[in-house]
Amino acid sequence: MSRTDELLALDRRFLWHPFTAQEAWESEPQIAIERAEGMYLVDTEGRRYIDGVSSLWANVFGHRVPEIDTAIRAQLDRVAHTTLLGLANVPSIELAERIAAIVPFPLRRTFFSDDGSTAVEAAVKLAYQFCRQNGRERRTRFVAFGGGYHGDTVGSVSVGGIGLFHGAYRPLLFDVHRAPYPYCYRCPLGKDDPRSCGTACLGVFERILAEHGAGICACVIEPRVQGAAGMVVAPDGFVRGVADACRRHGVLLIADEVATGVARTGAMFACDLEGVVPDFLCLAKGLTGGYLPMAATVTTEEIYRGFLGPPHAGRTFFHGHTYTGNPLAAAAAGATLDLVRERRLVEHVRRISVDFDAMLEPIRSLRSVGDVRRQGVMVGIEIVADRATRAPFPPERRVGHRAAMACRRHGAIVRPIGDVLILNPPPAIDTGTLAALCSAAATAIREVEAEEYG
Ligand code: PMP
Repeated sequence: MSRTDELLALDRRFLWHPFTAQEAWESEPQIAIERAEGMYLVDTEGRRYIDGVSSLWANVFGHRVPEIDTAIRAQLDRVAHTTLLGLANVPSIELAERIAAIVPFPLRRTFFSDDGSTAVEAAVKLAYQFCRQNGRERRTRFVAFGGGYHGDTVGSVSVGGIGLFHGAYRPLLFDVHRAPYPYCYRCPLGKDDPRSCGTACLGVFERILAEHGAGICACVIEPRVQGAAGMVVAPDGFVRGVADACRRHGVLLIADEVATGVARTGAMFACDLEGVVPDFLCLAKGLTGGYLPMAATVTTEEIYRGFLGPPHAGRTFFHGHTYTGNPLAAAAAGATLDLVRERRLVEHVRRISVDFDAMLEPIRSLRSVGDVRRQGVMVGIEIVADRATRAPFPPERRVGHRAAMACRRHGAIVRPIGDVLILNPPPAIDTGTLAALCSAAATAIREVEAEEYG
C-alpha cells in the first residue's frame, strides 16, 4: 500500500468531513493535501492544483506568504495563546485598532471570536441584548433573507435560509421574518424579466418592515453576494435599499461579510460598494489571510455603550470563546491587513475582474451553462440540463460534483454548491493562474456535458 493509500484509508476510518456526503466520500477516489506554494496546493503524490476556492473562500494572498509566516513565527516566540476574558493581549489590541481604521465610521469597536458562524452569532445576540436593555424591549424578532447562509451554530442557522442545510433543525430554531433575495436567474417572485423589475424583492422587504418593523431588532444580510446560495449577486442598489428601510424603521443592520470582506468583491467590504454602513460588520475567513481562525464583529460606540453599567446591573455581554483574540491569529491578521494596503489589493481585484469576465466568456456559451454570476473574484457558474427552460439536472446526476472532480484532473481544486460550480480564487491571484483556472473549469464542464448529452 502506498503512503497515500494508507493515509486515505485512515481518513475513511477516522475522519468525518464537514458538509460532506460521507457514503459517497468513502467510495470515491480522494487526494490528501500535504503542502502548498503560493496559489497552488500540492497533494501527497506531488501533484499541484490551483486553490480555486481559496481553501473555502478564505485565502487572500496565496499560501506560505513570507510576511504572514514571519509574523506568526515572531508571535510564536512570544506566546501562542492567552485569554481575552478579563485580560488584554498585545496582538489583539493592535488588531482592533487596525480594524477600526479600515471600517467605515461610526463602526469602531471589535468583539473578537473564532469563525464566521460565531461572528454572526455574537452580532445576533448583541443586537438582541442591546434592544432588550435599552428601551427597545418590543424588538425581539429578526428579519433575514431566503437563501441566506450565516454559519452553523443554532443562532446563525436560525437566520439562515437554505432549506437543505437548515430544514432538519427547524424545531430547534427561533422564527424570523423571511424576505426574498434577488436571485434574478430564478426570481423568487416569479418575475419573467427580473432584471428590469425595479427590485420587486426590495418592495417585499419594505412591506415586511412596514408591517412588523416595530417588533424587529435587526436585519441580517450577506451584502451584494449570497455565497452559499450559489454566488447570487444582488443588483446594484438592493443593499442600499435594505439599509435605508432599516434606518427608517429603527431596525439594526447586521452585515455578514464573512465571505465578502477583505477585498474579495472589489471593495474592502461589499457594503462599501453601495456606501452602506451597518450597525454590525461580521468578518472572518480572509481576515487572517486564510491562515488561522479569527473573526471580528465590529460595531458602533452607541451599541457598545448600551452594555455599560455597574457589574451587578447585569448589562454585560456574557459571551466569549476560549480562543477569542488568539495572538497567533491576530498576528496573521495584522500582517494580512498590511499586505492589503501595501499591495493595493482592492485595486488589484478591480483590475483582474475585467480579465476574469473575458476568461469566463467561453464558459458562458457552453451548452449546459445557464448563468454565470461574478462579483470581484466570487463566481457562480450554474449548470442546467436545458438552457431554454432553465431546468436543472436531476440531483442524483451530481453534475456539479462531477464537474468539480473533473476540474481536479485538470489541475484545479474547486467545490460546487449543488449544480453551481464555484470559482473563488485568492483575491491576489495573477492573470496567468486565473486563466488556467477558467480553462480547467471550461474543460471540466465540457467533459460532463459529453457524458450527459452524449
Ligand atoms: N457567513 C457567510 C456569509 C459564510 O459564507 C460563511 C461560511 N461559508 C459563514 C458565515 C460561516 O463561517 P464559518 O464557516 O467560518 O463558521
